[in-house]
Amino acid sequence: MSIVTRFAPSPTGHLHLGHAHSALFGWHAATDQGGRFLLRVEDIDPSRCRPEYEADLLEDLAWLGPRWPEPVRRQSEHITDYRAALDRLDQLGVTYPCFCTRREIEQEIAAAGHAPHGPDGPLYPGTCRALAPAERAARVAAGTPFATRLDTHRALELTGPLTWRDRAAGEIAATPEILGDAVLARKDVPTSYHLSVTVDDALQEITLVTRGVDLFHATHLHRLLQTLLGYPTPDYHHHGLLTNERGERLAKRDKAVSLRALRAAGKTAAEVRSMAGFP
Ligand code: GLU
Repeated sequence: MSIVTRFAPSPTGHLHLGHAHSALFGWHAATDQGGRFLLRVEDIDPSRCRPEYEADLLEDLAWLGPRWPEPVRRQSEHITDYRAALDRLDQLGVTYPCFCTRREIEQEIAAAGHAPHGPDGPLYPGTCRALAPAERAARVAAGTPFATRLDTHRALELTGPLTWRDRAAGEIAATPEILGDAVLARKDVPTSYHLSVTVDDALQEITLVTRGVDLFHATHLHRLLQTLLGYPTPDYHHHGLLTNERGERLAKRDKAVSLRALRAAGKTAAEVRSMAGFP
């Protein structure tokens, strides 16, 4: 089967060497084997994404070397796809509306005295999962804003145990419960990273998801969503992260290693590819 990979940056800042590593990793994983490399712009968060960052990232990436087919998939243009997937999950009975504010969640966790922690911090305590159906309906009817969460335990009861394959880490038993009842659609945006990425990887027929090991935990949830939605499961390769001289992972605030800054300082694309680990 021919390999299809993707690089899926969010236009929330300028690309840096860590992104270059990730893009080149995906590009080589596909094209060295005669496969296809796609680019996807993950711009569902209007408060953080900016069109000028998108224009810059397309230019920086083309300068760096990878090539991709047009048109690029831009998530903000495909909200109806995510809504359709959410409807299917609703029909399966594995979602619930969550009316909690961030503050209420914090207070609930503080009052409980302890809270299980996941990779992104304390887990949602499940307050709205326990709401009576009539109360839920009344709040929705009253126009109270809500997010949509996955009832992870109920979902796992439907699917049974799941596994996925990582090219670096091997066969992995999926444990999506480490993320608690994740948000599938936010109050302000009718989708989420987890839902959009799962839908897009399926619609774009990605066969190998390459991304940083910082997103390894997310794959447990994506694997569950794939089964619920009837999607195939791609292979995964979570790669290591580049670090700065202090051993910290590179972030968009590390301006000195942005591809823009390196270009402005006179580096060639070949030199930057080499700095990103692909000589
Ligand atoms: N948009 C995500 C990011 O910029 C990457 C998503 C993915 O590769 O699954 O971190």
